[in-house]
Amino acid sequence: MGAHISIPMYQRAVPQRYRLIGQRCLKCGRVNFPPKAVCKYCLTGSEFENVQLSGRGTIYSYTIIAGGGAPPEFAEDARCKGSYPVVLVELEEGPRIIAQLVNPPGEGISIGMPVEAVFRRIYEEEGVIRYGFKFRLV
Ligand SMILES: [Zn+2]
Repeated sequence: MGAHISIPMYQRAVPQRYRLIGQRCLKCGRVNFPPKAVCKYCLTGSEFENVQLSGRGTIYSYTIIAGGGAPPEFAEDARCKGSYPVVLVELEEGPRIIAQLVNPPGEGISIGMPVEAVFRRIYEEEGVIRYGFKFRLV
């Protein structure tokens, strides 16, 4: 099979990464995303239930990434636009996640702006199109 990418293995990763499935710790009740073996909040809980995250949240922090040195999933956009904003979003369920902001406002980004997750094609690798989430202002 050589270096052929394993589609079944790739698909197994889909629920958490692409459908925003978090896991609620049965011990402390907080939601981990991405899923962990041990709860990152109480550091002892290891039993979880899946929860569908809403994808809604607010901007907790942000940075502007200049072209060059971008991680591979952002490299294509960096080539096209030169620089782009990356936001740290606090989801309404509690987890904080980093993603690109797809519609930055001309007047600049402010902490606390409401956003929602959108699903976009991020990059293509060995013929497989990878999807992931970004955020947009609402
Ligand atoms: Zn916990």
